[in-house]
Amino acid sequence: MNNNLAVSSSKEILETMDNCTKCGICHSFCPVANVTKEFPGPKFTGPQTQRFRMIESLEELSPDLCNGCGICTSVCPNGVAITDIITLAKSNLKKSNKKISFLQKILNRPDTVGTIGNYIPFLSNFILHSYIFRFIAEKLLGLDRNAPMPKFTGRKFKKFVNAINFNEDRTNIFYFSGCSVDHYDYEVGISALKVLDILGYNVITETGLCCSLPMLSSGEFDKAKDRSRKTIVNLKKKLNNVRNIVSTSTSCSLTLRKKYSEYLDFVDQDSLNVSRSIKDICEYLLETHFDFLSKNLNSLNLKKVFYHGPCQLKSHSMGLPAFEIMRLIPGLKVVLSEADCCGIGGTYGYSKEKSYISNSIKKNLVEQIRSEKPDLVICDSETCRWNIQKSTKIKTIHPIQLILTSLNNY
Ligand code: SF4
Ligand code: SF4
Ligand code: SF4
Repeated sequence: MNNNLAVSSSKEILETMDNCTKCGICHSFCPVANVTKEFPGPKFTGPQTQRFRMIESLEELSPDLCNGCGICTSVCPNGVAITDIITLAKSNLKKSNKKISFLQKILNRPDTVGTIGNYIPFLSNFILHSYIFRFIAEKLLGLDRNAPMPKFTGRKFKKFVNAINFNEDRTNIFYFSGCSVDHYDYEVGISALKVLDILGYNVITETGLCCSLPMLSSGEFDKAKDRSRKTIVNLKKKLNNVRNIVSTSTSCSLTLRKKYSEYLDFVDQDSLNVSRSIKDICEYLLETHFDFLSKNLNSLNLKKVFYHGPCQLKSHSMGLPAFEIMRLIPGLKVVLSEADCCGIGGTYGYSKEKSYISNSIKKNLVEQIRSEKPDLVICDSETCRWNIQKSTKIKTIHPIQLILTSLNNY
């Protein structure tokens, strides 16, 4: 389980509950349990209650209060896969006694929302960011009116991809853009393609692929299964031409690497091949191009940046590759966040009923950033970036954008 390439099935995940010695360490680190008494905590909701779930159907709500940050699993000294036990419980909960809300179903389909919103992006943005719409959406759907919303960008990434020339002399690599780059954060995707081009790759990419993580983390497993299988079939074909798949989203890469096996029991050879091939882009750059980066990263017109590693990084078990790379930039002070979680938890902080938990969790991070007064905040995860930028009013970008600027800054 400590190896970042290890893959487990749901049966193996559930079996880890027997390792729990009730030490309580996970509870003391859980960001949700630390801000609300409504959530009984990871030990209780994970291994302790799982024993009873195995023998009877329980009327419980606590799995839904977990934001899936993964911190409990990463601190457990006995290898209990607490976060995944709780996520599997969420799925069973939906099957038995609790339906998925209409709002959650919308949030679970960022690809569909992005496709619709990008038909007329300026109109979609006007509606989505208007006070009246947000007020009505909060009343009718339970969408928190202050939740961070990205802006639709009108397929700019797809247009950029369509203009790329194929160079047969170069090594191929596949870039998994995911919904956020496809529909909102096109600059992140373009920066990734430009950095890979500087490094001499022929980049193959395809828009419209979604890993279905929001469905998986909210327990909508039945719908996620078909979509995830299609993604595996698609990526398996790509592996005929490339050795590695890289992603700028720590959520997408974590899902493709581990979550299909843990939640959907995708342990067939195709899924394992995809799982072994996917890398976070900074992880890949650090492993494969450290020498080039240490010689070619140039100083920037910035004094200090603040780096918040999203909580999924702990589940990746790969350390802080973006932080290691940014420390190679001459003259740049990189302040490391002391907060484990920004509170947004993917789609968790978007619902009105959970927003007070999400907002309480983020206070610590926001206070740190405000006291450091950095020129920029850097974070690998899209929803964390949107959350941090909205809360601090400081521009928040992906590390690959900083790396590109530094490589270009001769
Ligand atoms: S940290 Fe691990 S062993 Fe300790 S209570 Fe939590 S699940 Fe059990
Ligand atoms: S995943 Fe995060 S929120 Fe959920 S129980 Fe574990 S530490 Fe708490
Ligand atoms: S994790 Fe990535 S591909 Fe999956 S839904 Fe989110 S942005 Fe889309």
